[in-house]
Amino acid sequence: MEGSAIDVGNFQFGGHEALMVFDNVFIPWENVLMCGEYEFSGMLLERFAGYHRQSYGSCKVGLGDVLIGAAALAADYNGAAKASHVKDKLIEMTHLNETLYSCGIACSAQGSKTASGTYLIDLLLANVCKQNVARFPYEIARLTEDIAGGLMVTMTSEKDLQHPEIGKVLEKYLQGNASIYTEDRARIMRLVENITLGTAAVGYRTESMHGAGSPQAQRIMIARQSNLEQKKIIAGIKE
Ligand SMILES: Cc1cc2nc3c(=O)[nH]c(=O)nc-3n(C[C@H](O)[C@H](O)[C@H](O)COP(=O)(O)OP(=O)(O)OC[C@H]3O[C@@H](n4cnc5c(N)ncnc54)[C@H](O)[C@@H]3O)c2cc1C
Repeated sequence: MEGSAIDVGNFQFGGHEALMVFDNVFIPWENVLMCGEYEFSGMLLERFAGYHRQSYGSCKVGLGDVLIGAAALAADYNGAAKASHVKDKLIEMTHLNETLYSCGIACSAQGSKTASGTYLIDLLLANVCKQNVARFPYEIARLTEDIAGGLMVTMTSEKDLQHPEIGKVLEKYLQGNASIYTEDRARIMRLVENITLGTAAVGYRTESMHGAGSPQAQRIMIARQSNLEQKKIIAGIKE
């Protein structure tokens, strides 16, 4: 492919994003997949988006596992791991995360063979998967922030902790669980801060919302696939 990126200046975006604009693009003929077959473009888009929505049933779940682990460690380090509400919140987070995983597995397992011989995921379940992904990570993040405590944003800097004088004071007054180094407590707070509010939140929160299409795009697909007429028949009223 030939092309040129337009210089967008020295802007530094939060997630170190790059904006590339291609013009004068040449695509070799062997890489041309469609040429004028407009009747298939809707189907191509639905299937492409469906696969993207399926994949969030694994990638966001992996990030969720990291966050649940961080919340559990934060509870240990804070000295609150035995509190019944903390245990229950960790159960709730696991329930939400595994529900997302189940959706990813379900839309894959319910896939079927297409005329070309390739397998296609269940598009309704893939859209249900992504619709849940646009919601549950926010609740998992909320519960993590609850468990971690305000220290996840007010924690002192590494430089202060390592300061020969101030470091000892901080070590004493920022200690939670007596058997844990304050520096380890600081590390877990930084991890929670990063995934829920910092750079990694781009991937855990905003991408969960808008990646593979904003929530309304899934609702349109769910409406198309919901087969309401069939459901009316199984309700059993004969007019
Ligand atoms: C972290 C991240 C990673 C991404 N990665 C990729 C990637 O790898 N590849 C890729 O191709 N894309 C990627 N995307 C882009 C993603 O597909 C879009 O963000 C998504 O489709 C939503 O589009 P938008 O951001 O322009 O929001 P908008 O379309 O502006 O949506 C904002 C709001 O407006 C509403 N809205 C928009 N149009 C209408 C309308 N016509 N009628 C009524 N309501 C409307 C939406 O429902 C939503 O509520 C990524 C996005 C994020 C945030």
